[in-house]
Amino acid sequence: MTDSHCHLDRCADPEAAVDPGLVAMVTVGTDVERSRLAIAAARAHPNVYAAVGVHPNDASRAADAATRAAITDLAGDPLVVAIGETGFDRYWDDESPEAQRFAFDWQLGLARALGKPLVLHVRDKQGREEAALAAAAAIAGGGYGNGVLHCFSGHPELLAAGLAAGWYVSFAGNLTYKSAADIRAAAARVPVERLLVETDSPYLSPMPLRGKPNSPANVRLTAAALADVLGADPEALERQLDANAERCFGFAAARAARGRSDPEPPPPAAPSGTEA
Ligand SMILES: [Zn+2]
Repeated sequence: MTDSHCHLDRCADPEAAVDPGLVAMVTVGTDVERSRLAIAAARAHPNVYAAVGVHPNDASRAADAATRAAITDLAGDPLVVAIGETGFDRYWDDESPEAQRFAFDWQLGLARALGKPLVLHVRDKQGREEAALAAAAAIAGGGYGNGVLHCFSGHPELLAAGLAAGWYVSFAGNLTYKSAADIRAAAARVPVERLLVETDSPYLSPMPLRGKPNSPANVRLTAAALADVLGADPEALERQLDANAERCFGFAAARAARGRSDPEPPPPAAPSGTEA
């Protein structure tokens, strides 16, 4: 099982949050410092991979050339398997639409230059769709075929734009909420080879843990709910989701780089002749 999006650095105990039973976790940086933490976590754990970028609620930081240079530098690390999260957030209104668009365009260019997927965050106020429509237009205009609609909320035009571009669609714990019929309906419309699941830990715990801090292990609950929605065999769906994540993030290249950076094995000890 793969958690395609979490924030280990925001979990109360980041070490405990790492689940050795998962095939992979992608921990996502939201600014320069947190992107460094994501890479450090990936170095420390063989099944953790990093994404680096500037979050839409910090988007104005991308106007700073030193921030862009630092993220660009980190993005080349072989354990960095995605750029972002970037995107459009009209829920918090912390940053202007212009600043978010600038940050998106810059991170899209970085993702394109490196051939890594772009992780997109989209959030609107209840009943509004400005962010979803801005995101749909940005994807269509960007012409980049490698991205993830993270924590997908079900907006039909955004889904159409993402699928037309060849992107993946990642579902989080809110798929399991009683009120989320539109999210489940969207999941049923995504081709199975484009589906991903995530926790967005420490946020958005799936049922029956809603309201408690989330951790990557809970991605299994969301995958089980997705199997229910699709009427799919849970184990077959799990294999499909792992294969999708492998293809999307290119974990194989990161695994190969881990092998190269391992220290040389010590030379065999000389026989001492004194032990049995
Ligand atoms: Zn996130």
